[in-house]
Amino acid sequence: MPQTHLIAGNWKMNGLKSALPVAQAIAARSRNHPNARVALFPPATLLPLMAEALAGSAIILGGQDCHHADSGAYTGDVSAAMLKDAGAQMVILGHSERRHGHLEPCALVARKAQAALRAGLEPIICIGETLDQRQSGLTRQVLERQLTDSLPDELGRAAFHVSYEPVWAIGTGLAATDAQIEEAFALIRAHLHRRFGPDFVGHLLYGGSVKPHNARQILALPGISGALVGGASLTAEDFMPIVAGAD
Ligand code: PEP
Repeated sequence: MPQTHLIAGNWKMNGLKSALPVAQAIAARSRNHPNARVALFPPATLLPLMAEALAGSAIILGGQDCHHADSGAYTGDVSAAMLKDAGAQMVILGHSERRHGHLEPCALVARKAQAALRAGLEPIICIGETLDQRQSGLTRQVLERQLTDSLPDELGRAAFHVSYEPVWAIGTGLAATDAQIEEAFALIRAHLHRRFGPDFVGHLLYGGSVKPHNARQILALPGISGALVGGASLTAEDFMPIVAGAD
């Protein structure tokens, strides 16, 4: 029996109410692909509306980030409990657009992961090197540091995902090669093993220019549990062939 893959669509800062039919089309067409667990990460403003529009479907919803505190005087921020209340089951943390665009350090990502677990959300923690770091031969060192500092010990008792997302592959159309993904996965797996023992419940995702033409090959890599998809998740036409790649 084929493995079930998580195919997660990160809409980033895209999507008005008029985009809800896209999510409904994805939900309807996902029924034909029982080997994929399909998740959508809309902007926070759409989350409750999407939860309502997709009620009764198998689509998992998630937030794109959360604050490290449960509530309080944090203007403009969204807590993990608020995401949960709005219909989320998961949350993306440490995305490179947060790490680099908002200068979020690993320690903050770890606190956010703790907040997600307190709220009952499954975190997807993103790690990945920049092009400069890769070209300087620092990839392994960077990934190790991000894993050590962004993953809190509490994950040892929880379901979570680590998404390997090389920064140079995000939104560029240039996906990592199979060998690059496998090398990163081996390092991540070894780290999780060391930290959490052989029975850890962490799942390994890849993100970075996953498209209809390369999804099937990427999802066939050994030990991969799914893909985090940005640009190609914004239309059912692009996203559904990726979901079908899990068949
Ligand atoms: C992402 O933002 O996580 C991502 C993988 O984007 P894209 O698929 O557009 O490269």
